[in-house]
Amino acid sequence: MKWGVIATWRMALDGIKKAALMLDQDGSIFDSLQQVITEVEDCPDYTSVGYGALPNEKGIIELDAAFMDGTTLSFGAVSGVINFKNPVKIARKLMDERFNTFLAGQGAQEYAQINGFEEKNMMTDCSYNIWQKKLLEKKEVLKPYDGHDTVGTAGVDTSSRMAAATSTSGLFMKKTGRIGDSPLPGCGLYSDSSIGSATATGLGEDIMKGCICYETVRLMEYGLSPQDAAQKAVEQFNKKLMDRRGQAGDISVVCMNKDAKWGAATNTGHFSFVTATYSEKPTVYIASFRDGKQIILPATEEWIRNNKE
Ligand code: ASP
Repeated sequence: MKWGVIATWRMALDGIKKAALMLDQDGSIFDSLQQVITEVEDCPDYTSVGYGALPNEKGIIELDAAFMDGTTLSFGAVSGVINFKNPVKIARKLMDERFNTFLAGQGAQEYAQINGFEEKNMMTDCSYNIWQKKLLEKKEVLKPYDGHDTVGTAGVDTSSRMAAATSTSGLFMKKTGRIGDSPLPGCGLYSDSSIGSATATGLGEDIMKGCICYETVRLMEYGLSPQDAAQKAVEQFNKKLMDRRGQAGDISVVCMNKDAKWGAATNTGHFSFVTATYSEKPTVYIASFRDGKQIILPATEEWIRNNKE
């Protein structure tokens, strides 16, 4: 039976390895995607997700996460969550609700407390020091992509169930209450088991203008291969932003269809992602957009050793 999983950034490699074993033994797509994300959330070395993530401008780590079930189209999300260990688990639980499925800040924390989710101070010495250093630099304008990266993952299990999930601390030094694309359906993630799933990373303020994940899934529905769908969604929207606004933030998308075929596209010079399927062992790829072309190559062992995020 076919199964597959894909995730943004090299930091997802350990989680993808575990998820691949689970899916190969007929594990559920929900448990497998949760495994990919919690592996990253729990590791203090990744400064853009979960424990040890980067704070907002006031020095508070506000986390966003989401989960989507491609079969029922149930969606759960949290944003601006403070001091909870695994925001993605809270988002997953919210998929069970009929109402109030997307909770922000205090409301999300109350829900997490009532439902017994583990609380934790998510600040590490490292994330505190990076924040302090940034304050001293007294940068007036924050450069886009100056310290942010979402782990987003999507896939299909041997029962043909698809899902997608995300987790991030969003933009480093963001304003209190800022929400990016990652917890928004259609923007940071989308899943439809009859077609495919997609997830994005990059500058949330621009990704959400194009509902890029919904667009990628929609293009697969109209017959495009996952690779062509990701490419068309990213490149057309990048062009639209350039034409209308004269600038486009970083946008990268990974996707998978119901047959476990994957695709990836970026408007950046360097975007890593990881995939594993019934016919491909866990592999890290690097995508780059150069001279109007998407170039996707497997990362070398040396690159994987030297680059953790
Ligand atoms: N898209 C995320 C956000 O804007 C950050 C990222 O993926 O790098 O919050």
